[in-house]
Amino acid sequence: MDTSTQPLFVEVLLPLAIPQTYTYAVPVDLVDKIKYGVRVEVPLRRKLYSGLILDQHHKRPISKLKHVISVLDDIPIIAEHQIEFWTWMSRYYAAHLGEVMSVALPSGLKLSSETKYVYNTAIDLDELSLSDDEYLIAEALSIQHELTTDLIKDILDKKTVYPVIKRLMEQRVLYIKEELQYRFKPKTEDYVQLKPPYDKDLEVAMDMASRSEKQQRALLTIMSAAKKQEWIRKKDIYEKAGIDASVIAALKKKGIIAVEAKEISRLAGRTTVKHDLTELSLAQRSAYDEIETHFTEGRVALLHGVTGSGKTRIYIELINKVLESGGQALLPLPEIALTNQIVGRLEDQVTGDLLVYHSKINDQKRVEIWKAALSGSHLFVGARSSLFLPFSDLQLIIIDEEHDPSFKQDSPSPRYNGRDSAIMLAHLKGAKVLLGSATPSIESRYNSDLRKYGYIHLTERFGASVLPEIEVVSLKECYKKGLMRDNFSVPLIDAIRETVSVGEQVILFQNRRGYAPVQRCNFCEWKAECPNCDVSLTYHQSIGDMKCHYCGYRQKKRDKCPDCGNEDMHLLGAGTERIEEVLATHLPEVRVARFDYDTTRNKARQDQILADFHMGNLDLIVGTQMITKGFDFDHISLVGIINADSLLSYPDFRAAERSFQLLVQVAGRAGRRATKGKVIIQAFDTDHPVIRDVLTYDYESFYKRELADRKLSVFPPLFSLIAVWLRHKDLQKTKAAALKLSDMLKSKLGKRVQGPIDPPLLRVRGAYQQVIYIRVEKELKTSQRIKTLIAKAQSVLAKDKEVRQVRVTVDVDPY
Ligand code: ADP
Ligand code: ZN
Ligand code: ZN
Repeated sequence: MDTSTQPLFVEVLLPLAIPQTYTYAVPVDLVDKIKYGVRVEVPLRRKLYSGLILDQHHKRPISKLKHVISVLDDIPIIAEHQIEFWTWMSRYYAAHLGEVMSVALPSGLKLSSETKYVYNTAIDLDELSLSDDEYLIAEALSIQHELTTDLIKDILDKKTVYPVIKRLMEQRVLYIKEELQYRFKPKTEDYVQLKPPYDKDLEVAMDMASRSEKQQRALLTIMSAAKKQEWIRKKDIYEKAGIDASVIAALKKKGIIAVEAKEISRLAGRTTVKHDLTELSLAQRSAYDEIETHFTEGRVALLHGVTGSGKTRIYIELINKVLESGGQALLPLPEIALTNQIVGRLEDQVTGDLLVYHSKINDQKRVEIWKAALSGSHLFVGARSSLFLPFSDLQLIIIDEEHDPSFKQDSPSPRYNGRDSAIMLAHLKGAKVLLGSATPSIESRYNSDLRKYGYIHLTERFGASVLPEIEVVSLKECYKKGLMRDNFSVPLIDAIRETVSVGEQVILFQNRRGYAPVQRCNFCEWKAECPNCDVSLTYHQSIGDMKCHYCGYRQKKRDKCPDCGNEDMHLLGAGTERIEEVLATHLPEVRVARFDYDTTRNKARQDQILADFHMGNLDLIVGTQMITKGFDFDHISLVGIINADSLLSYPDFRAAERSFQLLVQVAGRAGRRATKGKVIIQAFDTDHPVIRDVLTYDYESFYKRELADRKLSVFPPLFSLIAVWLRHKDLQKTKAAALKLSDMLKSKLGKRVQGPIDPPLLRVRGAYQQVIYIRVEKELKTSQRIKTLIAKAQSVLAKDKEVRQVRVTVDVDPY
């Protein structure tokens, strides 16, 4: 039957937490433009959205339909099988497909009625070729600076607005507002050109420079570029004419040339010359070969290499092979803060384009990178959101620091693990996966036991560098013997003094920011607590306030107990601020900086601290776990851990694993070059098995014990875990809902269900919490069935008048 004359319908996915796609009718004049993966402008509940076409058909639905208003793209903005990945993610992590779409697309490709647009003041309107509609909006923006989609609709007095907005975005007339929080700093380089009239009168120019042979040489070089009507890169003149900056400066002063900083597109062909790569060491070469073998045999490879063994060097080798064969490679990182450092190392070593993609890159750029992924050979480095790029030819994914808990997205839904999702993505795309870590996660190491993953072990550091020696200092003993100076044992103080006196550097790890975590009345035991959360307030000396680290609540420090009026108030415990202060009293000669969330929120300040440390203007950095990752400095020869017990006592089944990883990683910052490093761990419980294993870098011992523990207590990796959280401001209601839900689940799932239980924090941000844990066998079928059951129970709850206000969130593979 000829269907071409029948009405056409499309299934449109919207970036919202709704369970299904919506069906829209297609007006006849748009039929030709309809295809999978292009965006359409559609109305929903009196708002406009840009949604994605996932399907088209001729099945007329029963209800009356709204129409597609316009088609935004000529070619699909997602890759061919991308929806399969989204669908997997939504099923596995119990999220709506629209929620996946919402995190997957850069905001620039995801417009809605509330989206605000701002004017790009750097643009010259007269130079652009704008249509009447476009000009109208651009002009309105240049006056009002900010418009919403709805306002734009009013101005144009039309039903359709997104095509106009899209073209204005492409011409950089406007930006999406939320993105401006992170001002994009374009990468620039200096370019040089002859100034009029000298561009037409070279002889005169040469005469003006007649007294300097160097200036003349520079001019000749610039002229050869000028013939082609081009700007020439300043650095190229240095090289070609054999001159330096002073010569260019002199020519500029004479007014012969113009120098301009030009933005160089991060997407354009690379300008830097590739450095000659060093050879792989024997150990690295054989690790590389083993990885290739596992790849050929279709396995994920797990590279367990001690800190400094040269894992990055091996990554480069693998990436270059892919780039040289015209494919795409992806290196997702657990934290945006790590990108600069790793990009700096990779930039001149990889043989192709390196594109950086994360939420702090401005949206315009993100859309550009998005489009670049649809074709061509590149290396993508980014946050876990880079998994969603529309890869045309993805061949390799490298997950460095695969053990890092930050690969897991907390919120919003989908609460996905970037490492695990990468493995699924690679599976769908036929790409290879390499996981790398100095302290592999129990899960990945276990998978290599099961021979699901290939396992490669690099046991030595590269070259002359050796692993630092680790020593544990008993805080118990030191207190007994009077060897404590505030938070420091005398052995640690002495080691710091010695290290600094020979010009070497120190880092100190304290996993707590602020000055002191508790303020208490010494008389009645009153404590400063957050009114919204079940936690004590942390005193921050730098702002003079007590602060809640969960909800941001602030209040002044008390000089008097509000309960008993006593003035004997105490600050207990120590965060990084206090450590910094204590150091100044005991070692005033040491130049100290603090590196934690408070001092690094400002990117410029963070860069400054790192630069100062790098140049030796600082002797010591006190930091939270931010210093355990990717801190690669030549002169750190001492690492101190102020208190290891606080890590080990964390109420979580992963506490031992996390402590082992943190301690080994932070130890690995020492002695990365020729000088041998030293690590001092202060602890009360010096016999703790994890500390014993850290002392000898005995990963195997740690792994075996931990696995045995997890077997006994039925935790991952032997079972998967699903956490169902219930939250509401009324405790009774929350508990009632949790009981109802767990009863429903228990009737079907029996002993697999544990709870509801009180989580370590009963109340956060004004809401009481209950949690139900469900242990799930590893078989895919069972786990999918169980997720369906949970969803059903959830929808029963949502219809229950008594408890339906209680918010339920499902967290699959919680961290
Ligand atoms: P990891 O990533 O395992 O911590 P890195 O890749 O950072 O280790 O290597 C540690 C140091 O050794 C780096 O300074 C790196 O430049 C150097 N290095 C590693 N492999 C080589 C090699 N094959 N040739 C020269 N230097 C190397
Ligand atoms: Zn009191
Ligand atoms: Zn709070």
